[in-house]
Amino acid sequence: MAPSHPDDLQIGMEQGCVLEEDAPYSSWSGTVQRLWLITHCRRITRELRFCHLVGLVLCVACIPLDAVAGVLIIGAALRLGVVVPLYLIGIWLVRSEHTLPRLVGAVAPVAGFAGVVSFIGTQTIAELSDRYLMAATMLVAIAVLLVPLRIGPSFWLSFSGFLAIALPFVLAGAVDADIADLLLYSLVCCAFPLLFKRRSDRLRDQNFILSLKSRQAQSELLKINKELENLAQMDPLTGLLNRRGFEKRFSATFDAALASGEPLAVVLLDVDHFKHFNDTYGHQLGDECLSKIGDLLNTEIQRHKGIAARYGGEEFIAALTGSESANAVGIAERLRKKIADLEILDTCGARIRITASFGARIARAAKLRQQEFIRDADGALYAAKANGRNRVALYQGGDKLPAERKMEGGCESKRCDARVSPPQSELTSYRRNRGA
Ligand code: GH3
Ligand code: MG
Ligand code: MG
Repeated sequence: MAPSHPDDLQIGMEQGCVLEEDAPYSSWSGTVQRLWLITHCRRITRELRFCHLVGLVLCVACIPLDAVAGVLIIGAALRLGVVVPLYLIGIWLVRSEHTLPRLVGAVAPVAGFAGVVSFIGTQTIAELSDRYLMAATMLVAIAVLLVPLRIGPSFWLSFSGFLAIALPFVLAGAVDADIADLLLYSLVCCAFPLLFKRRSDRLRDQNFILSLKSRQAQSELLKINKELENLAQMDPLTGLLNRRGFEKRFSATFDAALASGEPLAVVLLDVDHFKHFNDTYGHQLGDECLSKIGDLLNTEIQRHKGIAARYGGEEFIAALTGSESANAVGIAERLRKKIADLEILDTCGARIRITASFGARIARAAKLRQQEFIRDADGALYAAKANGRNRVALYQGGDKLPAERKMEGGCESKRCDARVSPPQSELTSYRRNRGA
């Protein structure tokens, strides 16, 4: 009966529960019934125990009435010897996770109390036995109304309560015409609250389904929001993080490096003469080229547990941490060669040579601010462009020109029959485009 784990609620909701508000409890799927239990189990247990406690106090408090009725000894003995232990066992049993012990724990104390009151009634004078019978009836009727059980268990409470009231009179052979009338009245009183119970169950179930639906909608909304947030951080062309995504990840990486005192490296990559490439071969081939460069960068940087992103246009960025950062120039150099070796063919099948320039900044996180890493890597990239492109430059600080490493091949290649020729005043255009 009881749930195994509250997380089941979430699991059930993820499975999707399509339900109408007015579908009866019996038509709910096992998952939804289980969700109902998870949601209500603790509250029901608490209320059951409280009701039992009230019943127990009431039972003991009525002992003086037995004295007035002249049945003090038998009344006190039965109340203290039967009803009180029944209530204590009931309080203990309703904590059970299994259906039967919980049902017994909920029903038995009330039925026992009603039966004892009814039995005491058979032991007293005829004028008072009516009152005992009616008191037992009131007890069962109120319990059916107030004890937080669904209609099924409530039926058992009502049925066993009435049996417990009737049996002592029947067994004692004390059922005269008056008692028979009262027993009939008692039966109606025990059964009547079931109608209210059914109605309140229905309303509570509708409420539950509505709240379940609203929680489902909420969790779907959260899921969609998360997807949107992820999409907002992705570049659709290359599948890499975009600038926004990079800044978010880099911020976390920077904080971690700051805490651990590890060095950090930022590498900026800019495709050389890409405007000219687009003008010559079209944007579609340009896009294909960016996508291939993105793949190369991703593979290489992932291998070194770094972050790779498209920073904007034909610019890419990578961040490396710890021991990998010391090797940032070597990694950039490998990438540079791979880009220069990329197979990009024009419409005639001729290979187009494409190159990229790199700027790197390596430092301890404590030495620089986040944006300073990017600014310095950009400075190094600027120097790589200024010094002929297709090279890796490492920022070395101050106003000095960054140290550069002219790599084999440069912009020239024997195979670049259909190569993009560099436009004039490259440096000026690079400065202008970077907003320098
Ligand atoms: P430099 O070597 O100085 O970097 O020269 P460049 O031509 O690469 O630089 P510039 O900033 O003048 O041109 C960048 C070009 O990149 C302009 C634009 O056509 C192209 N570009 C930017 N984003 C995209 C894109 O998503 N797809 C394509 N195909 N081209 C793009
Ligand atoms: Mg650029
Ligand atoms: Mg460029």
